[in-house]
Amino acid sequence: MKKISIVIPAHNEEGNISLIQQRIREVFSTLENYRFEIIFVNDGSRDNTQQKLEELANQFEEVKFIELSRNFGHQPAVKAGLDYATGNAVISMDADLQHPPELIRDLIRKWEEGFDIVFTVRTYPKQISRFKRKSSALYYKFLSLISDVNINEGGSDFRLMDSSVVDVVRNMNEADIFLRGLSNWMGFKQTGIPFTAGERATGQSSYNLKKMMKFAFTGITAFSVKPLYMAAYLGFLFSAFAVVGYGIYVIHSFVAKTEISGWASLIMTVVFFGGIQLIILGIIGIYLGKIFKQVKERPNYIIRSKNF
Ligand code: UDP
Ligand code: MG
Repeated sequence: MKKISIVIPAHNEEGNISLIQQRIREVFSTLENYRFEIIFVNDGSRDNTQQKLEELANQFEEVKFIELSRNFGHQPAVKAGLDYATGNAVISMDADLQHPPELIRDLIRKWEEGFDIVFTVRTYPKQISRFKRKSSALYYKFLSLISDVNINEGGSDFRLMDSSVVDVVRNMNEADIFLRGLSNWMGFKQTGIPFTAGERATGQSSYNLKKMMKFAFTGITAFSVKPLYMAAYLGFLFSAFAVVGYGIYVIHSFVAKTEISGWASLIMTVVFFGGIQLIILGIIGIYLGKIFKQVKERPNYIIRSKNF
């Protein structure tokens, strides 16, 4: 019998744990030829998530949990689950039921057809804020423009991976993991299925604007050094401007013998270029920070306890 592992990161999800476990159980009761395990990764929750997990694990043998020592973030939490998954295929999904468990059937069907990675493409329903929908669409456009991997618009972390793919991910030693980009970058035989993201069952989204920005920067800088090239091109462009401007100035003062005045425009130019230089320094800094994080070789996450 083939075994399917479901990996679910959970940060303050006390109200959703047993809901999602029930829904998954129902799905597998109709899939007779598969065994399954659910690995919950408690990512430093401050509510009763841990207690709920322990209760559930006592009741159902398919429930496993990994408690991290603090909040490491969504991506490291998923990585933790992948590292310990034992199934022939591993499905990662959110705890808040925005990823409908019923789709597991379709994911498995595609896997049985021979695909190694089955990703899902999310379309937002009307209830989700316009801002979130638009910003997410814009982000993916921007990402494919300035990086070397193509990430599908509406990419989510609801995805099935064959165990051979999971092995590859397990052996990756990246300080900043970004699974959406990584799974695209790895290749293999991939296919996608669409779904409509629902509302959170209970609780609140942990992603605020600040976290989303950080996630966006991580995604861009983890997969491309294009921003560095852009900085260099910008430098060349402005140097060319300066050369032309200087030429005009020389002609004015030595040939036409007129002085060009303009203190205000001078200051504005200095401030403008000061700003551009700081932005570029910042971009270089982000990459430097990544190298710094990478050379320290700290683990992506630390486990406080687990029940297996
Ligand atoms: N999550 C996590 N660690 C975090 C933030 C989120 O493990 O630091 C989990 C969360 O419990 C959920 C999933 O990641 O299962 C997606 O988070 P959320 O629903 O807050 O994000 P959104 O759906 O709003 O993008
Ligand atoms: Mg959510």
